[in-house]
Amino acid sequence: MTKNKNNEKVFIIDASAIFFKKVYGNSVTVSDVIDEVKDDDSRLYLAITKIKVEEPSKDSIKFIEQMAKSTGDIYKLSKSDIKLIALAYEKKKSGKKVAILTDDYSIQNLAKSLGLETESVIQKGITKTFRWIKVCRGCGRVLNAKTNVCPICGCEAIIRRVDKQSSKSL
Ligand SMILES: [Zn+2]
Repeated sequence: MTKNKNNEKVFIIDASAIFFKKVYGNSVTVSDVIDEVKDDDSRLYLAITKIKVEEPSKDSIKFIEQMAKSTGDIYKLSKSDIKLIALAYEKKKSGKKVAILTDDYSIQNLAKSLGLETESVIQKGITKTFRWIKVCRGCGRVLNAKTNVCPICGCEAIIRRVDKQSSKSL
């Protein structure tokens, strides 16, 4: 395994990777994807993962839109999908190792015609699972995901990652 961060594969992630909590390593997304994440549980997850948010250039977006028109995928791709592919395309052009993490067939299809690597969200992360819980800063009690203040001692809730060896529940 290389320790060189510059050669580390960059994962371009779509919203499903956040919903299924499959964000690992060097992960990047676009702001449109962050905007799609509305439920409490996923927002909690987002708050603790170190996903970088970057935007592709207008030229890249235009290019990807043209490609999507030629493959017919344009009708099935959202604006955030186009941006994700554009971002992956830019990174690959600049010499980075990159894969789009998605289960979306149209993204996979267009990525393939552009020579971009994709990885499935569902297949990802079978060996590594984390759980995200809210605990009280004061008494350490595990709190409901929607609670921000401990009902017992009144202290602030904090988010904690629980590492698990297997996918078996605690
Ligand atoms: Zn407490």
